[in-house]
Amino acid sequence: MADAPHDLDVVVIGAGFSGLYMLHKLREIGLSARAYETGTGIGGTWFWNRYPGARCDVQSIEYSFSFSHEIEQEWDWSELMPSQPEVERYLNFVCDRLDLRRDIQLETTVVSAKFDEHDSTWTVTTSTGERVIARFLVGATGCLSAPLEPNIKGLHSFGGVSLYTNRFPSEGHDFSGERVAVIGTGSSGVQSIPVIAAQARSLHVFQRSAAYTLPSNTRPIDAQELAELKAAYPEIRRAQQEALAATARFGAFAALREPASRAILETPREEQLSALDERGWLGAFAWTDALVNYEASQAATALYGEMIRRVVKDPATAASLVPDYPFGCKRPCIDVGYFETYNRENVTLVNLKKDPIIEITPSGIRTEEQEFEFDVIVFATGFDAMTGALRRIDIRGRGGQALADVWATSPAGYLGIQVAGFPNFFTVTGPGSPSVLTNMVASIELHVEWIADCLAHLQATGCRTIEALPSAQDEWIEHGAAIVQGRLSTHETCTSWYLGANVPGKTRVYMPYAGGHPAYRKKVESVVAAGYEGFALT
Ligand SMILES: Cc1cc2nc3c(=O)[nH]c(=O)nc-3n(C[C@H](O)[C@H](O)[C@H](O)COP(=O)(O)OP(=O)(O)OC[C@H]3O[C@@H](n4cnc5c(N)ncnc54)[C@H](O)[C@@H]3O)c2cc1C
Repeated sequence: MADAPHDLDVVVIGAGFSGLYMLHKLREIGLSARAYETGTGIGGTWFWNRYPGARCDVQSIEYSFSFSHEIEQEWDWSELMPSQPEVERYLNFVCDRLDLRRDIQLETTVVSAKFDEHDSTWTVTTSTGERVIARFLVGATGCLSAPLEPNIKGLHSFGGVSLYTNRFPSEGHDFSGERVAVIGTGSSGVQSIPVIAAQARSLHVFQRSAAYTLPSNTRPIDAQELAELKAAYPEIRRAQQEALAATARFGAFAALREPASRAILETPREEQLSALDERGWLGAFAWTDALVNYEASQAATALYGEMIRRVVKDPATAASLVPDYPFGCKRPCIDVGYFETYNRENVTLVNLKKDPIIEITPSGIRTEEQEFEFDVIVFATGFDAMTGALRRIDIRGRGGQALADVWATSPAGYLGIQVAGFPNFFTVTGPGSPSVLTNMVASIELHVEWIADCLAHLQATGCRTIEALPSAQDEWIEHGAAIVQGRLSTHETCTSWYLGANVPGKTRVYMPYAGGHPAYRKKVESVVAAGYEGFALT
């Protein structure tokens, strides 16, 4: 059957790691494509999150594309754990090196995409009024790209400067001499607080949920080490593929890799404390039972609290900084001098579990017990993760069904690559894939290559549509749910964005696939080997 008229073979939404690589692969297989990007620049996460202190938790040598030997060798990383400006520069380098810009349309948001069942095409409309017809649609919209507007009374009444870590101004902000509030102590808060504290006249940190954070241990990479790392790329990349979190060198969490030999619940207190002397922060968690058993995890958290008390001088502040949920429930943060910051005279922690925010006022913040005046409020309040960006687009599949409605009750997806009822629509690192539990660049490469191979297969076999079967999708969701059942990551005390628990009204479902990168990779490869098992190709 001849193809229906169309403007492009593929519309890609987003120009971060996923969108850039997708464009490149589509060109390689001879398909016409355009990427639409809301931002004024490319880079996605690393374009938007330019808050002070923003840094990656995976080592630069691994948080980078592996598909091009030339790019690996041409790009020089300067630091072990790269900062936001360096990752942004890297992505711009890749974009130019592959001549991708001519197919990227910036400052253009995709507002709707509707599947035409008769023609098997997608009609995509944008914020600039453009309407384009494509055979395939790829959501490269990111797992952490839909900013969550904080639900605080009086939010827009503040008369000072409001800054959002996930939309931080490109010219930066000089906090010198200012009275500053930071709301939120997730990853962005933890990374920015030490830098802001060093500049500001005063800093009040408003904490709802204490963070598990580990020292980033970043340092410069010198020329000799870089040459050795570049020479070792093939082994590093091979090892990544065999690692649960797709990181061979394990970034900030390297010490967790050393196998634990003892259970914390069977270890006398004195010996628990010696583990901290020997292994530092990770000594709190390097036990056989600490990540699997709730009682043991509480003991590990108490040990982590001991580490905090060794750093933070004020006992009440130190106590407030100890999390009340298990380690492993959220992706741990990495920081440079976070706990030390609370010893500064200009820094105060406000524990919102004891003294909640009532409202934001024209001059600052009012809590149940206190009233504060600020020049600047920094909101480090996170994202509607994994499904948020796509739910904000009016995506309609078969029968006019809205993706937002399908996902209103549960973030359904087959392999995190497709959603039943939405033919020819692919999600890069969608719900039901390992994504945020891994070094995301490796997960992105796996998906982009899978999608490109699939499209090449459709071309070669003359198929016009591919669509996940509801039965395969249901089985995959059940399998994913069985893996996390009883795990600490779904414990009732856990309020992570993995579970959607940070978004009011979002259904509590564990969204990423927790079976690990190697098992997942084997699964998606075996699906292809079995003739795209679980998909209907027509
Ligand atoms: C602060 C922060 C730190 C992180 N640190 C790490 C880390 O240390 N290690 C790690 O593995 N991962 C980290 N991540 C996850 C990170 O998002 C991924 O590693 C990776 O950058 C995702 O790339 P992506 O292209 O899939 O998505 P993104 O980089 O999020 O890009 C998606 C793009 O799509 C655009 N978009 C969305 N909707 C639309 C629309 N409707 N129309 C047009 N454009 C649209 C967005 O503007 C965005 O630019 C971090 C995320 C954040 C927010």
